[in-house]
Amino acid sequence: MPRSAIREMMALAAGRPDVIHLEVGDPDAPTPDHIIKGAFEAVQAGWTKYSANAGLPTLRALIARRASWRWGVQVVPDQVVITTGAVGAVYTAISTVVDADDEILLPDPGWPNYESMAHLLNIKVLRYNLLARKGFLPDPDDIESKITAKTKVILINTPANPTGVVFPGRLMARLADIAQSRGVYLISDEIYEDIVFEGQHVSAGSLGIGDRTFVVSGLSKSYSMTGWRLGWLICAPELAHVASTLQEPLTSCASTISQKAGEAALSGPQDITRTFCRNYRRRRDILVQVFCNSKLLPIVPAGAFYALIDISPTGLSSFDFAKRLLLDCSVACAPGSTFGQSCEQFVRVAFTTRDDQLHEGLVRLRAFIESNSC
Ligand code: PMP
Repeated sequence: MPRSAIREMMALAAGRPDVIHLEVGDPDAPTPDHIIKGAFEAVQAGWTKYSANAGLPTLRALIARRASWRWGVQVVPDQVVITTGAVGAVYTAISTVVDADDEILLPDPGWPNYESMAHLLNIKVLRYNLLARKGFLPDPDDIESKITAKTKVILINTPANPTGVVFPGRLMARLADIAQSRGVYLISDEIYEDIVFEGQHVSAGSLGIGDRTFVVSGLSKSYSMTGWRLGWLICAPELAHVASTLQEPLTSCASTISQKAGEAALSGPQDITRTFCRNYRRRRDILVQVFCNSKLLPIVPAGAFYALIDISPTGLSSFDFAKRLLLDCSVACAPGSTFGQSCEQFVRVAFTTRDDQLHEGLVRLRAFIESNSC
């Protein structure tokens, strides 16, 4: 099992108290009080048992209502499966529709866990490129040309990790058309849906869920709840039924306590997600300010909380670069190679650290590149 280099960098940085952490996308803000209180009260009231595989009916209903409202399309609770984090939702969605030896189309660069899931499921990975010169957006013709008789899934991610790109609506429509006309499933990972600085997030769900689309999201990023491990997928009811049975051998159900916290999050004040988003935007602007007048920032992120920084002037591999930056400058970042071959000339920084730390870390990063340029 190949390991994500993000986790390797975290391990290397562990035990070094002076390190500035830009390697992992874990929001620094604590989970809001009313959500913690909701979970606490639920435990005291006895919500400490298993739930159904697909999750608590009350939470499924809240998620269906939220999706219907956001997408302008009717979504019913039977289409919702609650999972252990969005990671559980992506894995469950893929395993609902693939057999061993099928193929999946994954973004390059893309979140490394997609590839490890494919290894676990014994399916073949084909990558489609997101190129800097095309603004890191996928080329639908390229994707279509890569579909073979064995391709079962096209996986997309918007707002995207690691590029910070937000897909325009017409691109989403084109990708949904390709999936429909070529008879493959579209899994749209939208875990960063609430973190958008420019433009608008268009969900694959707003184009209609039909019988070939899975939309994945969760609470980790929008509500600063990474440790609660709560996510969901939304798809056709028949597929949701299969997906919920697939949860049984692995987790049975998501933690009931976290599900009650999820209810508190979704039924409580929603301005907190906007406040979080504003904070990330301010940090994105710090990044732009530090890298202004340089070609090291290939695009300004429009969403999520990541940016790719071009390290090619140093001639170092992205892994060697990240190690040296950590050892020489006490700044941890994620080597681009972990996101795919096309990303070797980049490192990824996450702006989930306090503003002053972020600024200092980025200043050191820029100075390191400039003083090591060949
Ligand atoms: N998808 C993407 C693109 C991610 O970056 C992450 C987390 N880094 C996840 C899914 C998983 O989110 P969760 O914490 O809800 O499992």
